[in-house]
Amino acid sequence: MDAASLRDLAARRYDEFVASLERMVNVDCGSYTPDGVNEIADLCEARFREHGWEVERRAHAPARGDPQLGDLVIGTLHGSGGPRVLLIGHMDTVFDEGTVAERPFRMEGSTAYGPGVSDMKAGLLTGFFAVEVLQEAAADGFGQISYVCNPDEEIGSPFSGPLIRELAPRHDVALVLEGARENGDIVSARKGITDYQITIHGRAAHAGVEPEKGRNALLEAAHKIIALQSLNGRWPGVTVNVGVARGGTRTNVVPERCELHVDLRSLQLEADRARRHHRRRNQRMAPPDGEEGGRRAPGGSRRRGRGGAGVRSQRRGHGRGVRREHDECGGYSDDRRTRADRRR
Ligand SMILES: [Zn+2]
Repeated sequence: MDAASLRDLAARRYDEFVASLERMVNVDCGSYTPDGVNEIADLCEARFREHGWEVERRAHAPARGDPQLGDLVIGTLHGSGGPRVLLIGHMDTVFDEGTVAERPFRMEGSTAYGPGVSDMKAGLLTGFFAVEVLQEAAADGFGQISYVCNPDEEIGSPFSGPLIRELAPRHDVALVLEGARENGDIVSARKGITDYQITIHGRAAHAGVEPEKGRNALLEAAHKIIALQSLNGRWPGVTVNVGVARGGTRTNVVPERCELHVDLRSLQLEADRARRHHRRRNQRMAPPDGEEGGRRAPGGSRRRGRGGAGVRSQRRGHGRGVRREHDECGGYSDDRRTRADRRR
């Protein structure tokens, strides 16, 4: 089965795809609207069953005080042997209830609009349609395809994350079916994220009576902010943002304390270099009673020199009307979980 015939089979499903997209987009299904998310889950489950997948559906049981989320739907399809592929698509959006009534699905030429049409109902459906095209072509040269349809990606996948981490090592390739970048590039790596909190301790004093006894923590913070922001552009792909500064109590008091929150993003190698530099700089600049604290958030950068699944798929796509370009993205997605797990 060559790529052109597969593409023809896919093209024949265009009208059905648009109709399915309209059906899904016209449901308010923000992460905190579980009834709407479950309506999407019903559609996914029905589609799995119609096309011979094994289906598992897990309801969310929130801890006391936590919000109720929608269900997880997992489809499994067995082939005749070969690579095991994990597909991931989320069913939730970031939109509040009522958004569909405000701006329902519409088409302008060949472009679809509506809440979540690109993030990511189109991708979610593409997973189903792609596999259905393979089935029609009797192309079953895979070991297993697992498709995780999760209800909570837009809030950091608190419910589905552990399942994705569990499944990822049992598969050879993981594809998160989010839309490509605006220019068509495929995201094949994610930047790691580090959140830093810097606390600067100065010394309080009355600003009018004995200012010379004070040590102004805000002044020191101002120096640090300038120094940290100036790191932008120093290493390719590394971004630094001082996003929060909190300090001082009133105008007639020399501020005793200031807190800075810093977001550092980068690929792995640059991250190590930037973190070392960041530490050195703070040690050098901090007043004797200054201190620094850091917290590493899960990152998912691609291992250098090996190339992730994204890169391999692009290479295969070469010459078939598929873009080969890839992009290293600073945003967040479930692929962080598939990547982080395989690095262990
Ligand atoms: Zn998304």
